[in-house]
Amino acid sequence: MVNFLIFGPPGSGKGTQSVRLAEKFNLLHLSTGDMLRAEIAAGTELGKRMSAIMAKGELVPDEVVIEMIASKIDGAKGYAGFLYDGFPRTVAQAVALEKMLNQRGMKIDCMLVLEVDRDELVKRLVLRAEQSGRPDDKDPAVIDNRIEVYREKTEPIISYFKEKGIYQPVNGVGEIEDIFHRLSDIVVKYLN
Ligand code: ADP
Repeated sequence: MVNFLIFGPPGSGKGTQSVRLAEKFNLLHLSTGDMLRAEIAAGTELGKRMSAIMAKGELVPDEVVIEMIASKIDGAKGYAGFLYDGFPRTVAQAVALEKMLNQRGMKIDCMLVLEVDRDELVKRLVLRAEQSGRPDDKDPAVIDNRIEVYREKTEPIISYFKEKGIYQPVNGVGEIEDIFHRLSDIVVKYLN
């Protein structure tokens, strides 16, 4: 099993590209954002507690997402690998993921980092707000906060993994198809 992380700020295209990569390479797409939104949609107790945090653009507690991920990887069969999207988002989550994988005889093999400048991000998120119906995309202050939280809490993970030699930066600006090819060229090397 090959373990890929896809990284980048909100609006960098992680979700869009993950769905395509998962399909093309038979990877299990693990998006903690999607899992949390599914909890909210299903009206679970957990979903109710998390929705207020998400609406503000803050991060939900580390234990919540770590448990969600563990249960998904334990139930997975028949995939070539895992693709983590929007997880880990804090250094504590990164350390927990490494530990979880080590206990199962795996490691994080590759970290794909989509690079997109801030002006482009804001443009995309404003556009997405008109289409997605996601409450956390509607309010510019919440969008700003999510980008801030990314810089402060999530970006430090990049330096943590850079030292481990798994860092693969990818230009995230351009046509969706072209970015997909850039990512695919890297992914394929790990699967052969
Ligand atoms: P985006 O990439 O646009 O920020 P996501 O769907 O990944 O969107 O996440 C939406 C929200 O869900 C985040 O702003 C956060 O509140 C919560 N969330 C998702 N994944 C995590 C995580 N790994 N740790 C903490 N909070 C998370």
